[in-house]
Amino acid sequence: MISEKSEGQGCLINKVIARGLCVRCGACVGLCPYFNYYNGEVVVIDQCHSDNSRCLQLCPLAEHEATTPLYQAKVKEASDIAIGPLREIFLARARDRELRAKSQYGGAVSALLIYALENGLIKGAVMTDKGDDLAPKGMLARDRDQVIACSGSRYSGSAALELNLCLKTGMDQLGVVGLPCQMEALARMRRMLPDGAAISQKIALKIGLFCTWAIDYRGFSTLLKTRGIDTKAEGYDILPPPADVFRVKNKTGYDDFSLSDIRPLIQKGCSLCQDMTAQWADISIGTAEEKPGWNTIIVRTSVGAEIIRKALEDNFLERDHFSKKGLEHLNAAAANKRLKGIKARRDLDRSHQ
Ligand SMILES: Cc1cc2nc3c(=O)[nH]c(=O)nc-3n(C[C@H](O)[C@H](O)[C@H](O)COP(=O)(O)OP(=O)(O)OC[C@H]3O[C@@H](n4cnc5c(N)ncnc54)[C@H](O)[C@@H]3O)c2cc1C
Repeated sequence: MISEKSEGQGCLINKVIARGLCVRCGACVGLCPYFNYYNGEVVVIDQCHSDNSRCLQLCPLAEHEATTPLYQAKVKEASDIAIGPLREIFLARARDRELRAKSQYGGAVSALLIYALENGLIKGAVMTDKGDDLAPKGMLARDRDQVIACSGSRYSGSAALELNLCLKTGMDQLGVVGLPCQMEALARMRRMLPDGAAISQKIALKIGLFCTWAIDYRGFSTLLKTRGIDTKAEGYDILPPPADVFRVKNKTGYDDFSLSDIRPLIQKGCSLCQDMTAQWADISIGTAEEKPGWNTIIVRTSVGAEIIRKALEDNFLERDHFSKKGLEHLNAAAANKRLKGIKARRDLDRSHQ
């Protein structure tokens, strides 16, 4: 057993990794020589003897006395509505048809990144690649082709290792696309680390993806192999309810799974997550249930508002109205996730008392 020092790596291992709660956000990966990411798993390379580890401070799964200031900030900053602070919410899609065809839904994420890169608002974007023979992982995209190469959703964590590597090399003006857990790790970086404010200044744009859960990559690739399906799929989709379908798109067509086959693969730590809409992002983006082929966009910060304004003005994005009914529905789904997450965290804490 690794010793559990109050604020050290041992605490992170005992409270998160050994309990199977890691969601592969990658906040700890590449920070130091002790954590790495291999084929869908965060692996501990060696024991760290520091008793005040940055990995613990950044981990969104490590509820700990050290995280209290972040939670106080969260309570103060989050608005009453479950989808979190918002300046504006609307539907959008990329104007570029080619981009839309290659993207998950409306291509708003890819369009915004390409716009930001081509207009010098960011120098590179930390994204998730499609994975080769191994699991998807972080990648730094510097131009349109590289952004398009990362488009589409992979439903497993990807560790986004590239971010820590980029920060270490002194890169700045970075864009980051990530899941709610990854946006929370960035918020922790800003608030919890002594040099967090300075490091955060190197991140010029944070685009968060809506997320209900992500699945364990290794379990998923075993499931695909058992059914004789190529793990290098073209894309994945979860069809809107009541379909109950997880779709794997291949070159020749697609294979459908019942969600009851996929749910057992959901990462255990996702059950503790209280954030469906990436509240710590500048802009949060998800599907548009009421308008297929479009995205829902939540603008949260002045940084987000400015880039959205420019991208609309320069015709990179097309926009439409988000209905009151749609807002009620999205907010109810986010509230449901928050309540389930709070309950799961309480149950877990009680079971370890
Ligand atoms: C695990 C997961 C769960 C999701 N759950 C929901 C949900 O419940 N409801 C909902 O409305 N939307 C959900 N989404 C978001 C949705 O699938 C689309 O990513 C989003 O609507 C943007 O669509 P787009 O057409 O603009 O994407 P694109 O323009 O195709 O861009 C997609 C972006 O997602 C990034 N990406 C892909 N896989 C990952 C990953 N594993 N981790 C981090 N980044 C990744 C890519 O780098 C790319 O930048 C989920 C996404 C993921 C990855």
